[in-house]
Amino acid sequence: MSELKVLIAGAGLGGLTLAQSLRNHKIDVAVFERDASPWDRPQGYRLHLDADALGAAREVLPADLHAVFDATAQYTEAFTTILGTDLSVIKRLPARGEHGEEVWAAHDGPAPHANVDRATLRQIMLAGLEDAMRFGKTLSHYQSSADGVTAYFTDGSRAHGHVLVGADGIRSAVRRQRAPHAGTADAGVTALYGRLPMAAAEPVVPAETLKDIFTIASDERKVFLGLGSVRFPTPPAEAAARFAPGIPMRDQDDYVVCIVGGRHEFFPHTDGAMRACSGEELRRIAAETLRDWPTGAAELVLSADPTSFFPVEMYTSVPTALDAPTNVTLLGDAVHAMTPTLGRGANVAMRDGTLLGRALKKVADGQLALADALAAYERDMLAYGFRVVRQAARVGQERMAQNPLPE
Ligand SMILES: Cc1cc2nc3c(=O)[nH]c(=O)nc-3n(C[C@H](O)[C@H](O)[C@H](O)COP(=O)(O)OP(=O)(O)OC[C@H]3O[C@@H](n4cnc5c(N)ncnc54)[C@H](O)[C@@H]3O)c2cc1C
Repeated sequence: MSELKVLIAGAGLGGLTLAQSLRNHKIDVAVFERDASPWDRPQGYRLHLDADALGAAREVLPADLHAVFDATAQYTEAFTTILGTDLSVIKRLPARGEHGEEVWAAHDGPAPHANVDRATLRQIMLAGLEDAMRFGKTLSHYQSSADGVTAYFTDGSRAHGHVLVGADGIRSAVRRQRAPHAGTADAGVTALYGRLPMAAAEPVVPAETLKDIFTIASDERKVFLGLGSVRFPTPPAEAAARFAPGIPMRDQDDYVVCIVGGRHEFFPHTDGAMRACSGEELRRIAAETLRDWPTGAAELVLSADPTSFFPVEMYTSVPTALDAPTNVTLLGDAVHAMTPTLGRGANVAMRDGTLLGRALKKVADGQLALADALAAYERDMLAYGFRVVRQAARVGQERMAQNPLPE
């Protein structure tokens, strides 16, 4: 173990990627997570992963965990398919990379896109970190000095390390202190998420929904229905038993996630009031929002599991500059949250975790001073992170009438 001690606030996918990377590099790490346990609240369903997250998983996970990841990921064809409101296929759009290139056309390596189940991925990312995890710890503030940084928690406890990483999501307490000027903005859009059992979805959705990254239909109001499949090549519990026996893994059936969204004014309640609705009510509201579409769409939504629905508040970071770091930095949604139009937020958070892990390895090896390593990391991370935030806002405006980013 090196001398360096790293404190991470937040055990989302970004924080856990960093923690796995530091474990690899034999760097002392502790992860402080507000939730009381990994199962404290629903974490969402399908996640689209692209080369950033797939590369991160390859780099940071030990071979046995990566084998579980690989066996449970649905590698998709590299298209987003546009549907009519009658759910017929209009066109298939090739996925594009960071600089607008068609990923499919340029690609001759491992599959560059996958749909995975978020809970399964989180279990994989948590495995092996049990001794580093501190659940039920909400960071309130920190104090930074020449000899390190102390993190303070709402239960009165504290922890001291050489560096603190704010991986604590869009309402980051670390960002509030490190970059008080950095803001977030309401995207103007409401979305309701639910889960369709595969048996209900398969006979109704086009074949492309089951093999592409995502399919989406929208109307003249830009109210949309999004559909994305998660088909496990190997069921998660079986994959864990085969490749990494002993890691906790809940089993899951194949499913199709459905998202009904649009500008706030097309929904009967505010996001706040929607949080108080039951899953069944949210399902009814989602179906009702599609009432003017040919009947198939609303019926499909009504065939979803009623307990699975939840509302999502869509906020975006507003790109900004950060002052030079000393021993506190940020990653993922804590600094560059984006609307989910591109399915990129977790990818970029995992890329950050990998990049920061490499930078901290150089510090642990004595090759770089901490402040220089963090400055180099932040230069790269802010450039690509905010590039994707802007891209997501542009596509969000086109597809769902998202508010433009404030100047
Ligand atoms: C509905 C939806 C669908 C999405 N689909 C995709 C997709 O397909 N592909 C994709 O790449 N991205 C997608 N995203 C975006 C993606 O979920 C996020 O970008 C990603 O989860 C960010 O990871 P993170 O680790 O930075 O933050 P988070 O996942 O938000 O994790 C932050 C963690 O910090 C904890 N925390 C918060 N405050 C504190 C505190 N004060 N102290 C301690 N802990 C704290 C939280 O409990 C949480 O566990 C989607 C987002 C949504 C909402």
